[in-house]
This record gives sequence, C-alpha cells and structure tokens, in this order.
Amino acid sequence: MAACAGCSEETERDKAFEMGEGRLLCPKCFVERAQSKKSLTGEDRRRLKEAVKQELAGLLPRDRIRDILEECYTNILKGSDLDEEVGRATNEIERVAGLALCKELLSMLGGISKALEDEDAEVREKIRRIGSL
Ligand SMILES: [Zn+2]
Repeated sequence: MAACAGCSEETERDKAFEMGEGRLLCPKCFVERAQSKKSLTGEDRRRLKEAVKQELAGLLPRDRIRDILEECYTNILKGSDLDEEVGRATNEIERVAGLALCKELLSMLGGISKALEDEDAEVREKIRRIGSL
C-alpha cells in the first residue's frame, strides 16, 4: 500500500501508476488526469520519451528502425508519394516489431522451460531419495 499523489488515499502498489520520482497515482486519479490533459508539456514529452526508450531498449533493433526511417525520408525527398512511403515504413516497422516480440517471447518461453526442467529434475531426485529410505 502507498499514498496516491492525487487524492492521498492509500492505494495498492500493483494497481497504482508510477508517475516518476516515486510518485504514485491511484487508477481513479490517473484516469482523471489523463482525460484533463489536452496537450503535453515539455516535461511530459521528456518523460514519455524516456519511458518509451526504457520499454523498447533491447527489444527493437534501433539501427534497423533508423535505416527504415532514413530510407523513407530519402525516398520522399526523391519525390516518392508521401502517403505510400509512410505506409511502407509503418508496415516495415510493424514487421520488425512483430519479429522482435516473437524473439522476446521465445526467449521467455525458453527461460520458463529451463526452470521447469530444473524443477522436474529436483522432484525426481527427491522421489529417488524417498524410494531409497
Ligand atoms: Zn488518487
């Protein structure tokens, strides 16, 4: 439990929203603030960028995304259709993001599978010891 930075009421930590600098908002205050916010301040933008960077770091291949965007920009400068180029770049980024997520999921499943194998071996060892008593 922790105090909400909006209404000061106690709120469960796993249901609260982290607002940076240790400040938490309960779901009710979070929704109220999100709805009242018409435009982002410079500080909001900075925090949002930071959050996105943290979430995506290590997941999306940055160089590949940069290449796609640079190619898109170059083609537009050369006179290609703007909508077509943006659409193509968006599709390509979605494809890269999809593959990156699949890779992440596979590695998570690999981790789970390894943990289960270890546990299985431990259980078998215990059963073996019980049998030899
Ligand atoms: Zn609150």
